[in-house]
Amino acid sequence: MTLTGNMLIGQQRIAGNREAIRGIDPATHTVLEPAYAGGSAAHVEQACALAWAALDSYRETTLDARSEFLEAIAHEIEALGDELIDRAAAETGLPRGRLLGERGRTCQQLRLFARTVRNGEWLDVRVDTAQPQRQPLPRSDLRQRQVPLGPVAVFGASNFPLAFSVAGGDTASALAAGCPVIVKAHSAHPGTSELIGHALARAVKACGLPPGVFSLLYGSGREVGIALVTDPRIKAVGFTGSRSGGLALVQAAQARPVPIPVYAEMSSINPVLLFPAALHNRAQALAEGFVASLTLGAGQFCTNPGLVIARKGPALNSFIAAAAERLRHSPAQTMLTPGIFNAYEAGVTALLENPRAQLCAEGLRSTGPNQCQARLFTTQSSDFLADHSLQAEVFGAASLIVQCSDDDEIRQVIERLEGQLTASLHLDDEDLEQARALLSTLERKAGRLLVNGWPTGVEVCEAMVHGGPFPATSDSRTTSVGTAAIHRFLRPVCYQDFPDSLLPGALKQANPLRLRRLLDGQREAHNNAQ
Ligand code: NAP
Repeated sequence: MTLTGNMLIGQQRIAGNREAIRGIDPATHTVLEPAYAGGSAAHVEQACALAWAALDSYRETTLDARSEFLEAIAHEIEALGDELIDRAAAETGLPRGRLLGERGRTCQQLRLFARTVRNGEWLDVRVDTAQPQRQPLPRSDLRQRQVPLGPVAVFGASNFPLAFSVAGGDTASALAAGCPVIVKAHSAHPGTSELIGHALARAVKACGLPPGVFSLLYGSGREVGIALVTDPRIKAVGFTGSRSGGLALVQAAQARPVPIPVYAEMSSINPVLLFPAALHNRAQALAEGFVASLTLGAGQFCTNPGLVIARKGPALNSFIAAAAERLRHSPAQTMLTPGIFNAYEAGVTALLENPRAQLCAEGLRSTGPNQCQARLFTTQSSDFLADHSLQAEVFGAASLIVQCSDDDEIRQVIERLEGQLTASLHLDDEDLEQARALLSTLERKAGRLLVNGWPTGVEVCEAMVHGGPFPATSDSRTTSVGTAAIHRFLRPVCYQDFPDSLLPGALKQANPLRLRRLLDGQREAHNNAQ
């Protein structure tokens, strides 16, 4: 497909009229064609009007029709073939193998949501039948189902150009919920966004859906992004990126005459706790696993292990020495954008200039533009507790080891942490009681707790939680990965004393959708998967 540099408003290709962005190959600093002129408030207006017009018919699509649409998107993405991988590699500097894996994950995610929609459990149907004879008062017939919130604005992430971008998790979960989606493309990969946008638009057309189900806009966050978030027809926002960007959107959404939810995934340093027996028994293996996780993808994962917490002593010294040795041999890797590289350098410089942190090892020097040289720092728990800036996210392959004198200091350090996406515990049997004593604190801090694993690598499945207390996300009650993400874009409606003929299919007495309803407090047996 020839890239056009145009936006997609419904099925129409429309040229922007604001400052243009171009993709940049971060490995060579080469500017890529074509130019993508930014949209204006008028384009946002057009996309929102179309999305609003599409809402009522899209939200009433049958479970099968909506599932087939999600499957059609996956099919269209796969049909883009090598062109998608080549363009994404050029725009992000990510290796082809990683992008092939990410495409697989993106399509699997869409198919998983298709299965979720078809199954219908997400409708969470509850029926409390009328009790006209109840004393002292009769009970009405009450029936609840979930309905979509309305059009959703999605801000594609820079670090997953496929799985968290135009047709990524936020888009898939919003479409699964029955919400039209308008994506504000990330300027780091405009061509990749156009290719995926067209795949999505083709699926909309092939499935006979109204054109406003999906639009793709280019332009600056401050103009197009804020115009989208403040448009009264937008009812929720999905975002992955910086803390400042996420907070700007949260504030804009809260300042609206009618505030809306913003699901922003922002900043996490993903503490790793090394317990004494584990550290004593396998310091070398832990160091290897740690450095592999830290340097994976130049550390550009929201789950990157940016903080290690352990008790001082010979075992921790062995771990530090082994990790430092391994890190010194880790090659510099190209980062996603010059901006992200500059932010990494600024974060590392802040640590280098902070007398409370000591540089312990550096990876191999960079050999090209925008390359991340891995860094490992150490600090004492008293310094960490005294200086909040030591827990600022440094997006990239940098981590800080906090050395504690005793269990009480470990507890204090954990207690002082901001909200996190993950917390990892490396432990052996002898460590179990000590770990148990910290669990309730860790549950307050993080959305996913791991034992003897590394936080990078987020499974897309039913039980995943990719979320956590602020600033990991702006709303800790939910997840942006996994099927539970659909609930971000739904709200319950209760129907009281409706005649059966007026009830939506999901709530009719005969249960024509064969859902596993909660009927008078009892879970029904059948569902569509059987
Ligand atoms: P970003 O700067 O937050 O940008 C993400 C999106 O939000 C872009 O579309 C951007 O628009 C928009 N945006 C940013 N600030 C805005 C504002 N004030 N008002 C309205 N829209 C705004 O994130 P990024 O470019 O992907 O990466 C920058 C930094 O974010 C990284 O260095 C890293 O620290 C962090 N990051 C974190 C994660 C994570 O998962 N935790 C992932 C990626 C990045 P524009 O096109 O105008 O920029």
